[in-house]
Amino acid sequence: MKDKRLQKLGELHRKHKDIITLMPLQTGGLLTEAARQALIEFGDGYSVCDFCSGSLCDITNPPVQEFVHELLPEFLGCEVATITHGAREAKFAIMHSLAKPGDSIIVDSNRHYTTIVAAERVGLNVIEVPSSGYPEFTIDVNEYEPLIEKYHPRMILLTYPDGNYGNIPDARRLGDIAQEHDVPFILNGAYAVGRMPVNMNELGVDFVVGSGHKSMASAGPCGVLGMKKRWEEVVLRKAEAYSNKEVELLGCTLRGVPLITLMASFPYVVERVNHWDEQVLKAQWFSNELEKLGFKQLGEKPHKHDLLHFEAPMLYEISQRVRERGYFLYKELDDRGIWGPQPGLARSFKLSTFAASKEQLSFVVDSFKSILSKYS
Ligand SMILES: *Cc1c(COP(=O)(O)O)cnc(C)c1O
Repeated sequence: MKDKRLQKLGELHRKHKDIITLMPLQTGGLLTEAARQALIEFGDGYSVCDFCSGSLCDITNPPVQEFVHELLPEFLGCEVATITHGAREAKFAIMHSLAKPGDSIIVDSNRHYTTIVAAERVGLNVIEVPSSGYPEFTIDVNEYEPLIEKYHPRMILLTYPDGNYGNIPDARRLGDIAQEHDVPFILNGAYAVGRMPVNMNELGVDFVVGSGHKSMASAGPCGVLGMKKRWEEVVLRKAEAYSNKEVELLGCTLRGVPLITLMASFPYVVERVNHWDEQVLKAQWFSNELEKLGFKQLGEKPHKHDLLHFEAPMLYEISQRVRERGYFLYKELDDRGIWGPQPGLARSFKLSTFAASKEQLSFVVDSFKSILSKYS
């Protein structure tokens, strides 16, 4: 091929086999073997539409209808569910259908940037509930109440857990507050749904949002959205001209492989949330081991999620005096088959213990130990 740029596109590779993955964005999105098979089987464009008669979520072959209308609501503990391109698209669809420009939304200050961008696209006025600040950055949900009384928001949102510290705020309590004040409550569970049990009904929320590629072992981009029945007519309203096409979803969302991997991994995901207690213990153990080496874990302690944020001043100090600068840690870990902190180390970094076994995590701890002594 003459054009080198085109040639490169025909030879794409990515190292992923036999690697210990600790990158928080990726640990919950690793595919199951079933999903990997289905990925190839359904790789062609519009592959799920063979037997569609106008409504994606009503397709029976493959069994999208059963998945969306039965299995997902059971899993999320909600009355109505649908599929989206991701957590952000789900949040935008809710905001856009409930609010008008100039309305207010109250969110926690640990919110994901996509919450802010979605709100901006709708024209919402965003009010943030502050966190406790360094080092735990916890959110006291009771602080929503005076702000609800002051601003009369159209809706409230809680990040559960947040993507920076992995803190799990008291969603149940905020569910009570939201119901008392009759304000719609969105739970952003991008890092929860598919990792840990999340039951919308038990938490008293109106909407729950999940991310398939973040936490449901899917290729994505894909997401899930659960809601109370009363919001179906609002968020999933149909187009005037097409009685089977939802306006907020532009008719059909996941038109192929993202949906298939989400469905193929679902049996495994349903099972794995039952082992959440073990995941939490593993994360706590790992955090404890790294703290023995002089790392400092930020966020809640003891921690209740696999997403961990560490400060490691001694690693930062090393990066200031070695040739590779911020990349030295990435290289050292890469040599040992560990994929973790974002290349180009800063003062602090995030790791997730979700995909690694205890044995692999022991190896990671030993690796940090030997890297530290190598450069001391
Ligand atoms: C990753 C993440 C998102 C974005 O999820 P997408 O499915 O990619 O839109 C939203 N919120 C939080 C808290 C996240 O961690």
